[in-house]
Amino acid sequence: MVTLPHPAPAAIGISPPEDTPYAGVIVLDVDATDLDRKIFRVRETVPVARAGNLTLLYPKWLPGYHSPDAPIELFAGLIIRADDQELTWRRDAVEMHAFHIDVPEGVTSLNLEFEFLSPTSPTQGRVVVTPEMLNLQWNTVLLYPAGYFSRGITVAPSITLPPGWEFGCALSVASRSEATTWFDPVQLDVLVDSPMFAGRYFRRIVLDAAGEVHLNIVGDSVDLLCATEEQIEPHRALVTQADALFGARHFDRYEFLLALSDELGGIGVEHHRSCETATVPNYFTDWGASAPKRDTIAHEYTHSWNGKYRRGADSWTPTFEKPIRNSLMWVYEGQTQYWGQVLAARSGLWTKQMAIEALAQTAASYDIRQGRRWRTLSDTTRDPIIAARSPLPWASWQRSEDYYSEGQLVWLEIDTLIRQLSDESRSLDSFARAFFGMDDGSFVTRPYDFAEVVDTLGAIVDYDWTGFLTQRLQGKAEGAPLAGIGRGGYELVYRDTQSDFGIASNTALNKIDLMFSLGLLLSSNGAIQEVIWESVAFDAGVVAGSTIVAVNGRSFTGDEIKRAISEARNGGAIDLLVQNGKRHRTVSICYPGGMRYPHLLPIAGTRRRLDDILSPR
Ligand SMILES: [Zn+2]
Repeated sequence: MVTLPHPAPAAIGISPPEDTPYAGVIVLDVDATDLDRKIFRVRETVPVARAGNLTLLYPKWLPGYHSPDAPIELFAGLIIRADDQELTWRRDAVEMHAFHIDVPEGVTSLNLEFEFLSPTSPTQGRVVVTPEMLNLQWNTVLLYPAGYFSRGITVAPSITLPPGWEFGCALSVASRSEATTWFDPVQLDVLVDSPMFAGRYFRRIVLDAAGEVHLNIVGDSVDLLCATEEQIEPHRALVTQADALFGARHFDRYEFLLALSDELGGIGVEHHRSCETATVPNYFTDWGASAPKRDTIAHEYTHSWNGKYRRGADSWTPTFEKPIRNSLMWVYEGQTQYWGQVLAARSGLWTKQMAIEALAQTAASYDIRQGRRWRTLSDTTRDPIIAARSPLPWASWQRSEDYYSEGQLVWLEIDTLIRQLSDESRSLDSFARAFFGMDDGSFVTRPYDFAEVVDTLGAIVDYDWTGFLTQRLQGKAEGAPLAGIGRGGYELVYRDTQSDFGIASNTALNKIDLMFSLGLLLSSNGAIQEVIWESVAFDAGVVAGSTIVAVNGRSFTGDEIKRAISEARNGGAIDLLVQNGKRHRTVSICYPGGMRYPHLLPIAGTRRRLDDILSPR
């Protein structure tokens, strides 16, 4: 008789976290001077109170990423000693981020050595070290003991940087030598939430009267740091406008970390008392061209309130091995996307017209996303775990992290609805003040749930907010939720010319936007980045990953394909020679619609609430 298989017995357990302090202070020394090899070398001393099994963990689920995104594959060279004796470690059979050790009798501390082998090429992951700058994320260079809440574990960190480098970081400095900086001991969760940008070329600018908010800039070269007073001013106004919006600060200091580089990997990640933003090298030196990127900094700053101080209850976890759940990301990211663009306009980082043109682009892009027919907005909150921002063959059908921008459209609906229902006496500003503006000075995260969002809205203006939000989050529909644009005094229309913002945005991203005509998003060399589901191009069998080589028998250029689309208005086909790997084929597309780009036009005789929303406080 055959014995059917049964599961193997469980491996060694990992102690669940408890809300008690870990005895002693972990000392963490990071050497970040190996710029050639991009290697961080770490020595860590972990006090131990008793003999027996100890599990050390590499942080796995990181707030701000909303996913188990930690680069465990880049963690190497682990050697653990007790006094002079090397101990054997065993990786957990199931949890690859966990290392088990048997601590011998009489041992009071463990000495760890290991490296974080940061990527030497973008193909291996995000590049965080260049000859001129580095981005240290403490979660990549530490192990912590299992069994304790992060807030119960105290770490005394230090960093050794290349000679002459300066840094921005929200940790407070205890002492400095020429090369090494020692920071005050800090809770593990605060340490992981306090990354560093350091560089050969560094500039630090105070942004507020209290001296609490700073802009720390590193650049590929010294000339990139030459921000003018006119350029710094809107960054100062961002701080003022956020104060006016939220009415309280939940930090003792805030450090904008801004890298101007085409070598450091791109990033925009929020923290409670800082944010990491890596953007184009010419952020200041070609101010006009960098305009489309400038809402990022307003977005990340908003997160100090929305996402860090206030956080969806299921997104808060006691420690980094516990899975993060994302059910309220339509608040965390959706309303932050909304305030990021509104604050960009209120502060002058954007003109009002740029904000309106950006909104037109968002509204139109989401209006053609067919994925809403099968997948709810609520379900997209799982996408950081499902897709983790990997390229998708049919993004408009699969959907991705749509809670950002579709969430933004929903919050515009809510803002305009509150204004209409309250005879313009209340707005989403009232919600921001009530929901984010309590307990000035407190850093302690306050979790919330769906009911608190509904109750806060209901206290501002009486309405069936549960019904409204349930429909938006759980409903399926054709087309994006655009009612806020109409109530804002505008309508979405299509013209054959592109807005200035659209042009600047496409230029900055090296894209050709044919999404609203053929249903294609191209690189400037004809490479197809996206084909919109059920568009004209979709019907012709064109797919992302292929390249348009020729248009109507002529070599591909952006102008050539736009001319072909315009000429096809009078009848006749658009012939595309498309290459996919070794294969070429010609597709013939009949499309008489001409070039189409989205715009928002004011509706005559209606109140332009959108203008009110975008005006400075
Ligand atoms: Zn965000």
